[in-house]
Amino acid sequence: MTTPREPQYPLDAACRGLKPDQLEAFFGDDGERRKPVPLRVQAAARRYCAHCPVRRECGDRADERRDEGLWGGVWRWRENNSTGAYQRHPLVSDDGTTTTTRPALPVRRHVKKLVNSGWTRVDIARAAGVHRDTVTALLAAESPRLHAAVADALLAVRGKAPAKEKASA
Ligand code: SF4
Repeated sequence: MTTPREPQYPLDAACRGLKPDQLEAFFGDDGERRKPVPLRVQAAARRYCAHCPVRRECGDRADERRDEGLWGGVWRWRENNSTGAYQRHPLVSDDGTTTTTRPALPVRRHVKKLVNSGWTRVDIARAAGVHRDTVTALLAAESPRLHAAVADALLAVRGKAPAKEKASA
């Protein structure tokens, strides 16, 4: 009787062998990898990552390389600005369940209040650790629901707007 071997990356990756059009769900459909893909597209990718036996290793390797796209059930991207900060949105939780969503309306109201009190969209995005396009889409009421993790991060942004940096003389 043979002992079952440990899953290996990338040999046992659940997404191994997908066709290029199926991989759109992991990297977006327009070559723009710096913004999270729409929820309906993410859903397909999440199904693979949720049951992938090498999810943790996949995510660790992506972190080392600062890869963008969906790796290990987490959407990763580098900010397209001078900081180049590496950001992550979990789409699949550690126990393998896919991230739940919440109604966007209360979050939109909260973010609108921040904007009315002087916060910029970029500052809100930075404080919440989300992509600025997420804030823009939320304010434009593009989706009735939001990822729970994103909703929590945005609702946690409070207080005074960050002071503007003065241009150096
Ligand atoms: S965690 Fe997701 S992206 Fe990574 S190998 Fe598994 S299915 Fe592919």
